[in-house]
Amino acid sequence: MALYEKEINTALRAVREAAVLCAAVQAELSTDILEKEDRSPVTVADFGSQALVCRTLGEAFPGDRILGEEDAAVLNQPGTERLLRHLVHHVGRFLPGVGPEEICTWIDRGGGAEYSGRFWTLDPIDGTKGFLRRGQYCISLALIVNGEVVVAVLGCPELPHDPGRSGTAFFAVHGEGAYQVPLESGSGPVRVQVSSQEDAAHIRFCESVEKAHSSHDDAARIAEALAITAPPVRMDSQAKYAAVSRGEAEAYLRIPRGTEYREKIWDHAAGVLVVTEAGGRVTDIAGNHLDFTRGRTMQVNRGIIATNGRLHEAVLTAIRDLGIGGTR
Ligand code: AMP
Ligand code: MG
Repeated sequence: MALYEKEINTALRAVREAAVLCAAVQAELSTDILEKEDRSPVTVADFGSQALVCRTLGEAFPGDRILGEEDAAVLNQPGTERLLRHLVHHVGRFLPGVGPEEICTWIDRGGGAEYSGRFWTLDPIDGTKGFLRRGQYCISLALIVNGEVVVAVLGCPELPHDPGRSGTAFFAVHGEGAYQVPLESGSGPVRVQVSSQEDAAHIRFCESVEKAHSSHDDAARIAEALAITAPPVRMDSQAKYAAVSRGEAEAYLRIPRGTEYREKIWDHAAGVLVVTEAGGRVTDIAGNHLDFTRGRTMQVNRGIIATNGRLHEAVLTAIRDLGIGGTR
């Protein structure tokens, strides 16, 4: 892997380190959960993961911008002293002697907002709700160059690599395929490939656990239209992309519940490259290419459809025929 070799190695190392921090926080998860302005939860692990990844990227690629989900500003509010103490403790296990200001500076390295020709996007914990309920969550990191995702790593601590071995990292470089490797190093990378299923009735699809994030009712209507018999598999985070990439599901449906919400780039960039490099296809619900050139959100896309490719048109047609999301 000559192209982007330093980038993929650095990203994989950063995600693995962040996964160790997340697991340590999870092992002693207390009541240190803040609510952000949009009322979504954020924990020591979200901040710690972003701090570690941004520090590693900052050292390896000092000129690169990072658009990350978290922002250290909420840590300066009253009542966060305990969380900050825990944050220093957890990050300090990797960097002994580190102080809160330094950690906040690293977190805020991820505060990039605008599009540029080359930048990273990071979700330090995608699926924080899954993390809290010990379901699926991911550490998601992608490099975008000239609007295209070119490097992706998805660290999935709760997705078994093989039976009895927990934790898988998925990674991809544009044009070089998608691979999985045990999250805690060990055996070497193995290429992943999407399912070869061609019969829409046999689609196994995944969707969010949170029905606020994706309409379960509309997904059920699509399933009925396609005569799909398997029940949906609900999981948090970009683990859904991982499942499609290694052929455990034929589709990931993310159907918007209204017209307001704009998807965040860090919730999709890494997953998109992993699925496409595994032979699949990803568009929005109208079949449009995903546009990563608008800053932190995907301004021109609504919802997400990721499939094994062969069944993509069938799913888009069902969506259009049903008029879901104003697609008719
Ligand atoms: P998931 O784990 O697939 O349910 O997705 C988690 C992500 O959903 C979070 O990281 C949020 O950025 C994102 N999210 C928050 N609100 C919404 C919404 N109304 N519609 C779609 N996604 C959302
Ligand atoms: Mg997220």
